[in-house]
Amino acid sequence: MNIENNFSANLLAWFEKHGRKDLPWQHPRTAYRVWISEIMLQQTQVVTVIPYFERFIKTFPNIETLANAHLDQVLQLWTGLGYYARARNLHQTAQIIVNEFNGIFPDKLEELINLKGIGKSTAGAILALAFNQSQTILDGNVKRVLSRCYIIENSNENELWELAKQLTPIQRTAEYTQAIMDLGATICTRTKPRCLECPQQLICQAHQQGVETCFPIPKQRKALPIKQTQMLMIQNAQQEILLQRRPLKGLWGGLWIFPMCEESVEEWFKEHSEEKIAKKYIFPMFRHTFTHFYLDITPIHILMAKKSQFDLPNSQWFSTEKIEVGLAAPVVKLLQQLTSFQLIGA
Ligand code: SF4
Repeated sequence: MNIENNFSANLLAWFEKHGRKDLPWQHPRTAYRVWISEIMLQQTQVVTVIPYFERFIKTFPNIETLANAHLDQVLQLWTGLGYYARARNLHQTAQIIVNEFNGIFPDKLEELINLKGIGKSTAGAILALAFNQSQTILDGNVKRVLSRCYIIENSNENELWELAKQLTPIQRTAEYTQAIMDLGATICTRTKPRCLECPQQLICQAHQQGVETCFPIPKQRKALPIKQTQMLMIQNAQQEILLQRRPLKGLWGGLWIFPMCEESVEEWFKEHSEEKIAKKYIFPMFRHTFTHFYLDITPIHILMAKKSQFDLPNSQWFSTEKIEVGLAAPVVKLLQQLTSFQLIGA
């Protein structure tokens, strides 16, 4: 038996005893549910995903309900999970599957990778887990396991894909796929791999050489640029707050945020409203991290004497107790701060 066969045999034997078999998307394991879970699990841990998945499936139990939903409702259920392009892509892909595939989830790799938000690895996971096809996955967890077992630099994507393909068995692919994801998530973790509990310890080259955490070799990160903005938490006498919907493309696409301004608050008001500010309070600045830059946000709480008119596109007053739209993470944080400082209703 060669090393590749040992790898999958070891993994499958380990999975029988230790694999995760009670995740909510495994019962029933339909393509729709696997797809939603795979998208939610990108960059996000299982324990965080479970309540989001359950809420999402309760609201959108099938592809038709998701396709017919309003994007605001989809984004609202995603609030807090981050990487919102995932939610927009899910919504759009559901509409494509309903309109172009009669609502039947495609079961071919070429069709799946043409859909929004489904890359090669996610397509492989859907086909392996939901259709039990012999397809390959290569997500972050798998890359870590393989780059350690076979000492491969993470940057060498082609080599990793080739190896992942060779290791994937023709049979029991669904179990193997779940097993390798579980191994990466629970045993071969990024900073503290539990090698003594690992089924691959005898064949893992990084473990044999005692260099487990040197792999995968971390990418050199460039220093991120820093940008600044102010977020205007404008509240009227009815205690409603003003939010503005972001364009679908770009930063926080489709989400609702507090109006942002780079100029002075007084200048911004001159441009957008004829009303006077009753009270102004500056909150401490905080930093929000995007993939490509940091955004230093200075929140300014502004009280208006009445329900003011604003000349601001895509804006609306919301009661703070009933906001049923998707909110950007800093807005969620600031709304909590506003409540806890008991400024709302003061
Ligand atoms: S032996 Fe250690 S480093 Fe190697 S795959 Fe297992 S947990 Fe990861």
